[in-house]
Amino acid sequence: MSIRLFNTLGRKMVDLEPIHTGKVGIYTCGLTVYGRGHIGNFRSFIFADTLRRTLLMSGLQVTHVVNITDVGHLVGDGDDGEDKMSVTAAKTGKTAWDIAKEFTDLYHADALALNLLKPTIEPKATDHIAEQIAMIEAMETKGFTYRTTDGIYFDTAKLPSYGQLSGQKMEEKEEGARIGFNAEKRQSSDFALWKFSPQGAKRHMEWPSPWGVGFPGWHIECSAMAEKYLGVPFDIHTGGVDHIAVHHENEIAQTVAARGVAEANIWLHNEFVQIDGGKMSKSLGNTYSLDDLRAHDVSPLSYRYFVLSASYRSPINFTFESVGAAQNAYSNLVDFMRDLSPGAGNVDEVAMGEFLAALQDDLNTPQALAVLWGVVKSAELDGAVKAETLKAMDVALGLGLADYIGKPVVIPADVQVLVDARAEVRAAKDWKRSDEIRDEIAAKGFIVEDGPAGQKIKERR
Ligand code: AMP
Ligand code: ZN
Repeated sequence: MSIRLFNTLGRKMVDLEPIHTGKVGIYTCGLTVYGRGHIGNFRSFIFADTLRRTLLMSGLQVTHVVNITDVGHLVGDGDDGEDKMSVTAAKTGKTAWDIAKEFTDLYHADALALNLLKPTIEPKATDHIAEQIAMIEAMETKGFTYRTTDGIYFDTAKLPSYGQLSGQKMEEKEEGARIGFNAEKRQSSDFALWKFSPQGAKRHMEWPSPWGVGFPGWHIECSAMAEKYLGVPFDIHTGGVDHIAVHHENEIAQTVAARGVAEANIWLHNEFVQIDGGKMSKSLGNTYSLDDLRAHDVSPLSYRYFVLSASYRSPINFTFESVGAAQNAYSNLVDFMRDLSPGAGNVDEVAMGEFLAALQDDLNTPQALAVLWGVVKSAELDGAVKAETLKAMDVALGLGLADYIGKPVVIPADVQVLVDARAEVRAAKDWKRSDEIRDEIAAKGFIVEDGPAGQKIKERR
């Protein structure tokens, strides 16, 4: 068995070789809880969840750490500007702690709706201030840090390997330096490890440290918590492509500087969800949450299907039309499951082998779905085998298919009234009225299909 993954570090396909035989440690950069997680964030978590499920299906034990960033990220990638959590707090009159709690709870509910497996460990940045301070002290002892008026910084010039993940040279970063460059930084690629609280002002979140009262910079939490729970180096680190150039580059630098070893062996990055072909981000304010999708009658699991229908390494363009196509496919799949009877079938090993091979090939989920549809459409396999095989595949896909086996759709009374009325107008060949009623039924979340046996009602998922 070989599991091939595209390692951003070195930009090449590699075979997973677990550091500890039979066990894999994964660290996933989690949500910054200053706002509701959006569908782009959840693509990142669905991708990490699919990785974990694939490894489990491959017989490996997985420790999956997904952090909660509940402290002091700044507005941009740099170290200037206001803290995102404080901005939201100021807007709403709540404390940063309240904001973090509110959006962590919502994130948990969203994760559940998307069938994301619960992280093995879900550390919060605010619970690990001591570990972060200890790591900064280790870097300080080895001469990688310097002090400015507003904080303790990492001196990237002291680390010759800096930039290895993105392949960017430090000079290129210099050129790309943003406006508002902090003049006290030695290089624009240097970054804050610890920021001081402003003089005379009390922040909602601040802690004492050997350098003064303040809060951690926005990369140190991941290096410190990954080390605590997985040890370094660990097997796989995941996140979105936006993290390659800054956040993950800096995580690597911190671990190498403090401990003298690499942070992780394999770095995987999901491409972005775009909206109408353009960028989506909380800071641009054009984001969709799962509730926005629900308001358009798109279920969280239809969104999961939409994400799985593309490789994690391709950008996906979200429109209600594109997600609608995935929703139709998912609704058809659910409908197919409803018609199967639960019982004693065997898993079709050939299809299952092809399915797992697709996932082990850098998580080729479109191919895995193609194998699944091959089973659905197969003329050779009987219903009992199909039911068992699809159920087994769903352990990796997380689409909740097993829940539907042998469960006919429950049609609410108001929809049934419309269905009966439509049967009557069809008998009278009033096709115009028949179409109107079909639309009324659709508005209630149900699809009518006309077949030889009359109307068939499906639920739109
Ligand atoms: P954040 O809360 O910004 O730290 O993001 C959490 C995760 O979502 C990170 O791994 C980001 O890289 C990822 N992410 C953010 N925006 C998108 C997007 N539009 N598409 C896919 N992943 C994203
Ligand atoms: Zn991180």
